[in-house]
Amino acid sequence: MSSKQDYYDVLGVSKGATKDDLKKAYRTLAMKYHPDRNPGDKEAESKFKEINEAYEILKDDDKRAAYDRFGHDAFNGGMGGGGAGRGGFDFGGGFADIFDQMFGDFMGGRGGGGAGGSANMRGSDLRYNLGITLEEAFLGKTATITIPTTASCDSCHGSGAKDGSAPTVCGTCHGSGRVRAQQGFFTIERTCPTCQGQGRVIKDPCGACSGTGRTQKEKTLEVRIPAGVEEGTRIRLSGEGEAGLRGAPAGDLYIFLSIKPHRIFQRDGANIQFKVPIPMVTAALGGVIEVPCIDGSRTKVTIPPGTQSGNQFRLREKGMSVLRSQARGDMYITAMVETPVNLTKEQEDLLRQFEAAGSSSEKEQSPESSGFFRRVKDFWDDLTD
Ligand SMILES: [Zn+2]
Ligand SMILES: [Zn+2]
Repeated sequence: MSSKQDYYDVLGVSKGATKDDLKKAYRTLAMKYHPDRNPGDKEAESKFKEINEAYEILKDDDKRAAYDRFGHDAFNGGMGGGGAGRGGFDFGGGFADIFDQMFGDFMGGRGGGGAGGSANMRGSDLRYNLGITLEEAFLGKTATITIPTTASCDSCHGSGAKDGSAPTVCGTCHGSGRVRAQQGFFTIERTCPTCQGQGRVIKDPCGACSGTGRTQKEKTLEVRIPAGVEEGTRIRLSGEGEAGLRGAPAGDLYIFLSIKPHRIFQRDGANIQFKVPIPMVTAALGGVIEVPCIDGSRTKVTIPPGTQSGNQFRLREKGMSVLRSQARGDMYITAMVETPVNLTKEQEDLLRQFEAAGSSSEKEQSPESSGFFRRVKDFWDDLTD
């Protein structure tokens, strides 16, 4: 056994310390013994190393559990180096290997779900990227998707054994899925290497799946996409991912949504905005225009006389639907006054007459222009001061 100080003692906390306790203790001590604060102090330096080592182990749940169970021996590669190094295991692989092996073996259900050795046989999670239109995001939809996946093998019903034959009890572990060996004064239990913890072996593997219990398939699924989803929304379909090995739980399927750009509308959260061209005469005299809505309807918008480019109009509750809500956002339209082109001779004449007619009242007809030219004049005046 090593004479190293107990990690809990190093940090000055009890065995039952919470993560916060650990963090607090670590911070206080690390600050105290930090080499920058204790230049040239060898003792502080080694203390600082000890503190870091202890915290590295204890802050990690898995490592902490191993330490609680095996003390420092959990982490020094030699495992005592005693004669018990046989028995089917190899501790020569360095820290990470030992670590993985210990947890693969001792912690059984580490990955969560599944009993014993089947935990690491859970199927992988899958990702599916689904592009939808803005209208579909507004209304919601049921999408039918086809995904390549591994599914439970039909021939052997996922058992991996040839149809009719049954897996037989493993001779190495006699069905327990675990083997024990004495090592120094520890009894080490680990997953049976013959059956990988399954407790059974397949003498006659299924031909369709080579004994894995799963095959490559295309799977068709209906996915309900709720109204109001946004770019990047993820939908999780539990158990629709890759099938597990030999009856282990399947992974999950994640649908990642992206929304295609729309030719008219721009989405801004729950709101929709877009620019609408307004004929010059309508902008000047006022009028009514018709605009499209995301729900496919049309709505009339009254344009007041004197509307300028950039003026914005808000149409309440004509925007996007809101996820898991009856509410709707608003629609904002921005006026873009359009200067007519390709004028006829007659129109040109009328516009010249219009210009020449001028204003008969004192009211400004082009407030933006007068304001602008006033500012320009001030600017020039300031320069010549
Ligand atoms: Zn099969
Ligand atoms: Zn076995």
